[in-house]
Amino acid sequence: MNYGNIKRRDIADGVGVRTTLFVSGCTHHCKNCFQPETWDFAYGRPFTAGTEAELLDELSHDFIDGLTLLGGEPFEPDNQRALLPFLRRLRAALPGKTVWAYSGYTLEELTGAVPSRARCEVTDEMLSFVDVLVDGEFVEALKDITLRFRGSSNQRIIDLPATRAAGRVVLWDK
Ligand code: SF4
Repeated sequence: MNYGNIKRRDIADGVGVRTTLFVSGCTHHCKNCFQPETWDFAYGRPFTAGTEAELLDELSHDFIDGLTLLGGEPFEPDNQRALLPFLRRLRAALPGKTVWAYSGYTLEELTGAVPSRARCEVTDEMLSFVDVLVDGEFVEALKDITLRFRGSSNQRIIDLPATRAAGRVVLWDK
């Protein structure tokens, strides 16, 4: 997996102060995507053990609330397979940090309720490490710059632990 950027102190992509990883590769190709250069899986630099160490070091600061995964598309199957070992390490080393993930796939597509090219053998475990999922493609016609943490009104901010407990989609509302 490649990644395009790491934003060390990010207050726009999730609650609090976060460290955000922008992975490369996206097959959605939404109209007026805010960063089409990240569609290319070869864009940016390789995500290495050194990158993981750099992220863990950054995330260890008390003032960092957690990690945000952005793209590109973190839930393209190849990206899931690359991110999962890192998420395991993060949860083991820094269990108090939250994980937000943005995906052009809906939760139903990721969980298999609706067929999709994203779901693979590691999707369920990857979702188990995510606290908040912002789901759905960016839809230009539904763009609303007043929305918090999302670009268009079709996208949902989902509290995944609460969703699992309730057995239905629970939106994040903190
Ligand atoms: S899912 Fe995100 S990165 Fe991919 S095309 Fe849509 S807006 Fe761009």
